[in-house]
Amino acid sequence: MFDLERVSVAYGAARVLKGISLRIREGEKAVIIGPSGAGKSTLLKKLYELRQAQCAFIHQDYALVAQLSAFHNVYIGRLDQHSTTHNLLNLLKPQKAELSQITPIFRAIGMEEKMFARVSTLSGGQQQRVAVGRAIYRRSSIILGDEPVSAIDPHQAGGLLELIKSSADTVILAMHDVQLALAAFPRVIGLREGRVFLDLPSEEVGEDTLADLYRRS
Ligand code: ADP
Ligand code: MG
Repeated sequence: MFDLERVSVAYGAARVLKGISLRIREGEKAVIIGPSGAGKSTLLKKLYELRQAQCAFIHQDYALVAQLSAFHNVYIGRLDQHSTTHNLLNLLKPQKAELSQITPIFRAIGMEEKMFARVSTLSGGQQQRVAVGRAIYRRSSIILGDEPVSAIDPHQAGGLLELIKSSADTVILAMHDVQLALAAFPRVIGLREGRVFLDLPSEEVGEDTLADLYRRS
């Protein structure tokens, strides 16, 4: 699915990914962890570039249209897969067929009563749920997510992660909550200063390894 061999990425003169080699097979569920600035977001964007057509991407800043309803923001997940007429009709008045597909997604993200609320009136956590809903509605074989549960209450984040994992065949997320990441994902990729510092089954990631990954340089 992804086969990176010594991939480097630079912003101007600053090298951010320094020779990343990584193979991710179809059907894998993997999480990327590591200190802030290690290159997690850059790596996710690189993965997206490589398989754009098959990917739904959950942005760290949600990337929602604030003036539109939550429903329409989820609908946007498949805008490119419908005709302009179909899209205009749904923009004016959500059609039965779309409602029957999108309502269960709102139920799953725990937002059914906010389906027609304008996104600008929602809390950060609610907006993040809508961003997750949009990615699910896209029904891609791959979901990539950049800290997709960062604004969700800790006791609800696990459930949302399970939903994301069950919504696509291959799922790769970046996360900053390490304990949550280890509990939810079988494979952990640790980035440090633009390099793969560890790539292990989550049960093999010990406290010492984590301390090393996150140590100050
Ligand atoms: P992480 O997601 O692990 O926090 P990022 O991939 O966002 O790391 O960033 C890695 C490094 O690249 C950081 O030092 C960051 O400042 C830098 N960086 C990220 N995006 C840009 C950009 N658009 N232009 C220049 N530098 C960037
Ligand atoms: Mg990041």
